[in-house]
Amino acid sequence: PSGSEPATKIVINLERLQQLPADKVGPLARYAAAIQSQRGDYNGKVLSIRAEDLRSLAIIYDMSPGELTDQLIEWGVLPPEARPGTQVG
Ligand code: C2E
Ligand code: C2E
Ligand code: C2E
Repeated sequence: PSGSEPATKIVINLERLQQLPADKVGPLARYAAAIQSQRGDYNGKVLSIRAEDLRSLAIIYDMSPGELTDQLIEWGVLPPEARPGTQVG
């Protein structure tokens, strides 16, 4: 089935995020940078964020959390396994 369920484990691919145009990922990139700053976590290739943060970001992007999950997977910012129901090891 094609999505609409929000991701439960959100691990953002920071390298991919850097490659995408700011007009698309600007708000997400700023949000991730703010979390990195609050944690003092600057050296990771990925960043784990809260499920609650996905809901905040969905409001910013004017989407449902499930739609934003699909968008992030399409951009390659989240792995396809982030979609609930996908079986991983
Ligand atoms: P994992 O959750 O599967 O994460 C695998 C690796 O992804 C981590 O290896 C780390 O290199 C990277 N990673 C994931 N999220 C972040 C993030 O928000 N920031 C940064 N900088 N890197 C991230 P690492 O650090 O050796 O951790 C190995 C495993 O130890 C993790 O596997 C997880 O199972 C556990 N772990 C580490 N930190 C935490 C934590 O804060 N909470 C929990 N519950 N487990 C943690
Ligand atoms: P805080 O929310 O008061 O959390 C204080 C500390 O509790 C965090 O310090 C972290 O050590 C731990 N903590 C809280 N929730 C979790 C969690 O779900 N998993 C893990 N592994 N640890 C947790 P830290 O990391 O230095 O963060 C400092 C402050 O930065 C946090 O204070 C919060 O205000 C903000 N922050 C950091 N990461 C995030 C995030 O992913 N989302 C949001 N919304 N805020 C974050
Ligand atoms: P995690 O550390 O494996 O935490 C998994 C879930 O346990 C969190 O999902 C949250 O529901 C709960 N949890 C863990 N620590 C705390 C805590 O101190 N207070 C509360 N109220 N709940 C806690 P959530 O929120 O979706 O976070 C997913 C992942 O995002 C966390 O996995 C962790 O890797 C990262 N994360 C979230 N908040 C913080 C933070 O403040 N600091 C750091 N360093 N990592 C965070």
